[in-house]
Amino acid sequence: MSRILAIVNQKGGVGKTTTAINLAAALAESGARTLLVDMDPQGNATTGLGATKSTLTRTIYDVLLGECPWADSVISTTLPDLDVLPSTLDLAGASIEMATLPERELRLRHGLAGVGEHYAYTIIDTPPSLGLLPINCLAAAQGIIIPMQCEFYALEGLAQLEHTLRLIKRGVNPQIEMTGILLTMVDLRARLFRDVINTVRKQYGPRVFKTEIPRTVRFAEAPSFGESVITFDPKGKGARAYRALAKELQERC
Ligand code: ATP
Ligand code: MG
Repeated sequence: MSRILAIVNQKGGVGKTTTAINLAAALAESGARTLLVDMDPQGNATTGLGATKSTLTRTIYDVLLGECPWADSVISTTLPDLDVLPSTLDLAGASIEMATLPERELRLRHGLAGVGEHYAYTIIDTPPSLGLLPINCLAAAQGIIIPMQCEFYALEGLAQLEHTLRLIKRGVNPQIEMTGILLTMVDLRARLFRDVINTVRKQYGPRVFKTEIPRTVRFAEAPSFGESVITFDPKGKGARAYRALAKELQERC
């Protein structure tokens, strides 16, 4: 079975890219062939796994505009089972160019046709915005993972996301599911964290992953070396957490 999962939260800086990179790396390390699709024009997942943007000839932009098949823009990483479909700033213009094309919400879904024959997991990193790029991500995904930073406004954001998900379900993608909510940047010394975590766990029950991602500076350091924490700091608590998440995910889907 093959799964396409989007890492989604309209709020910026909650750990989407960090989760996309490290979950994808942990899945690949466990032997599951994994593709990371970078749908953010910031391209942080692309550089975070070691690609040099200036040397890329084909990117997700070309796939969305139907100018090349996905297989022609995939690049490999230092992990044998992990490939990346990279992005650059060009992607920022894609929404405008796609707006006049047929089935503009379904460009990514069609562009990724056949990935399931090559990869057990396809993980999509999404941008922190609303608009055509995130809609394409939601239309292409079978499930979404919502990274959430435990702060006072997090629950409000979650309610908004559930509303978006209902619209997507009614419209372009009736099969989409909420695979799970992931608590990120958890610092158990802060009491507010514990309160928000308890509220989220009470309200969303088993939809919240048991695994919590701890706060550690390793996550900020690893990308500048073009590596996931899985290879950069393999024994650290960050790597251990994303391995546990990968295992939990493999048990769920
Ligand atoms: P954007 O919405 O801009 O795409 P994002 O949701 O993808 O942001 P990240 O880029 O993953 O968020 O993380 C934001 C910042 O927080 C980064 O500097 C990252 O290194 C840091 N960070 C992410 N997760 C953790 C963590 N568990 N502990 C400490 N720092 C973290
Ligand atoms: Mg990001």
